Amino acid sequence: MKAIEAMLDKALRSNGKITFLVGAGLSAESGIPTFRGEEGYWKVGSVNYQPQEIGTYRMFKEQPEEVWKWFLFRKTVCRKALPNNGHYALLEIEQELGDRFALLSQNVDGLHTRAGSSEKRMCLVHGNLEYARCGDECTRTLYPFPELEDKTRTSELSADEINQLKCPKCGSWLRPHVLWFDEIYNEYYYKFETAQNVSYETELLFTIGTSGATTLPVRAVDNVMYMNKMLVDINIDENYFSALADSYVNGYSLRGKSGEVLPQIASYIKKMS
Ligand code: NAD
Ligand code: ZN
Repeated sequence: MKAIEAMLDKALRSNGKITFLVGAGLSAESGIPTFRGEEGYWKVGSVNYQPQEIGTYRMFKEQPEEVWKWFLFRKTVCRKALPNNGHYALLEIEQELGDRFALLSQNVDGLHTRAGSSEKRMCLVHGNLEYARCGDECTRTLYPFPELEDKTRTSELSADEINQLKCPKCGSWLRPHVLWFDEIYNEYYYKFETAQNVSYETELLFTIGTSGATTLPVRAVDNVMYMNKMLVDINIDENYFSALADSYVNGYSLRGKSGEVLPQIASYIKKMS
């Protein structure tokens, strides 16, 4: 923690933002499986699909009901989960830092909002499972995520449930409000430009519980390094960002659980600011 404290001291003396770029690892301690973990797969018939295959617009167009079954199961897992110490520490840090705090999250589980983090300082760059929208884009309206019964991996959908998954305006399938693997970012749904701008205003960037395998996070880290600002990676394992941080003069990486390290960061910021 000593190295991180020195970096926090420097960041607190500056006018720049202290930004937290988080991934599925942050919610792992809430019981939500990550994608790269063993529980990420989805079975259709006898075939096992990886999230990178099932979580695509192409699959949604070909097999909307199967894609919905996967998302309804994931939604059930998220609904039952509770924010953990990592989410609450982020809230405390935001309360200390105000507008100098920024949260770029790849998580779609709704736990930041349930912990109390403010929407205005948060970019949910991969969407939000609290919402659904028209799969044919007849409108850009975000509808509340359909409130169906809890689902397991093997639950089937009734005709009435399928009806609730249809767009109220045009009758085509709704889709979960998430960015799929074969889609590109945009500002309207995913705050792409806002997140990029945040990265340029950042003095110290924490990457936490993310494997560094998606485009916007990689860009945000690139931008911070390009601006010669500080980078700290926190993860239980080595990953793409820890390797970057280790080889970068203003970088540092720490092996640890987000639910344990973030509260220490929150206490230090509280003590110093
Ligand atoms: P990922 O699954 O690729 O990587 C998770 C990372 O978290 C790994 O590097 C792992 O070592 C680390 N990790 C696991 N437990 C940890 C802990 N307790 N503390 C610190 N680190 C821990 O996740 P990703 O990089 O976020 O990318 C996957 C994509 O999947 C994203 O697009 C995201 O939107 C989506 N996703 C979201 C959720 C969610 O909303 N909770 C869950 C699964 C996947
Ligand atoms: Zn529609």
